[in-house]
Amino acid sequence: MRIRARGVLILDATRPLPSPLSTGLRGRCPRCGEGHMFNGFLTFAPSCDACDLDYSGFNSGDGPAFFVMSIVGTLVVGLALWLEITYEPPIWVHALVAGTLAIGLSLAIIRPLKGVLAALQFANKAEQGRFR
Ligand SMILES: [Zn+2]
Repeated sequence: MRIRARGVLILDATRPLPSPLSTGLRGRCPRCGEGHMFNGFLTFAPSCDACDLDYSGFNSGDGPAFFVMSIVGTLVVGLALWLEITYEPPIWVHALVAGTLAIGLSLAIIRPLKGVLAALQFANKAEQGRFR
């Protein structure tokens, strides 16, 4: 199967899908690797602007938030412990450093994580469970 858009070959079923990790981290379409997955910061676009893949079935749920909390929490708590043991700074330094890092890292990694989870959902054909 080959899909063309505007005369350009964008999907060739004889080739494997692009890596879900690569497309998800870049926020690109998990089928063609070219179109944009996001319409806003965390909002999925209705469909791929290159191959028209419908994104309405994508639902990463709380997955990205869980991974962000786990990763950022581990890093920030570890850094706060190291900072306290090494320098024993006043509490306002902890609040400033930990607050800035927690917010900044969370905003930096939530979109790529959401993209990876959606791309993995597409690659593994995951969907809502149903009773027959
Ligand atoms: Zn696409």
